[in-house]
Amino acid sequence: MRLILLGPPGSGKGTQAGLLRDKFSIPQISTGDLLRSAVSEKTALGMKAKEFMDQGHLVPDALVVDMIRERLQGEDCKEGYVLDGFPRTLIQAEKLDEMLASMGEKIDEVVELEVDQDDILIRLTGRRTCRSCNAMFHVTLKPPKVEGVCDCCGGELYQRDDDNEKTVLNRLVEYEKKTAPVKDYYRGQGSLKTAGGSGSMDEIFERICTLVS
Ligand code: ADP
Ligand code: ZN
Repeated sequence: MRLILLGPPGSGKGTQAGLLRDKFSIPQISTGDLLRSAVSEKTALGMKAKEFMDQGHLVPDALVVDMIRERLQGEDCKEGYVLDGFPRTLIQAEKLDEMLASMGEKIDEVVELEVDQDDILIRLTGRRTCRSCNAMFHVTLKPPKVEGVCDCCGGELYQRDDDNEKTVLNRLVEYEKKTAPVKDYYRGQGSLKTAGGSGSMDEIFERICTLVS
């Protein structure tokens, strides 16, 4: 089961990818999470990526593609995975297809989450993320039981550097400019399916499950 979740920042990709991971027992591969780990560990990749991320711009394709190539070779990827936040440009989508073809594999399903722009701003600027397990909360829409503490693992909740209004707007512009064409790419291959991304987490998950099973 090799899945791709597409959708603008704040569409709930990360949340839904986590639910798919649990349902199908496959790894969730989030390029955003991988990049944030690289930034906090101050690796060579992290040092290069940080500036782009803080401004809400995409990290250059070559860096992200190398990172994914390495990740997909992991032992845990044999039975499939759910990609969350990748591919985000046409070049990334083409490189992914090449990579998979060379391993005799292909993507099974591509699901796009569709959400209103107004909802996105509210979702992202109120979002809080766990430093330890990356679980996501929201100050009003999904508050943790104890303020500042992750319900799942007790880790510290923080606001991502790029979840401020100005950077969120840049991320949305980047999405329209560079990621929207990726939808057409998969539509052209006949593999794009669209799920409404508004409603409760469970409702949205139901819709996705109907599409991929
Ligand atoms: P969101 O989808 O909410 O913007 P992510 O955690 O997926 O959040 O991404 C955060 C940032 O990480 C992006 O704004 C971008 O700078 C970088 N990033 C993540 N995935 C990619 C990718 N596939 N290509 C380029 N940059 C990426
Ligand atoms: Zn946690």
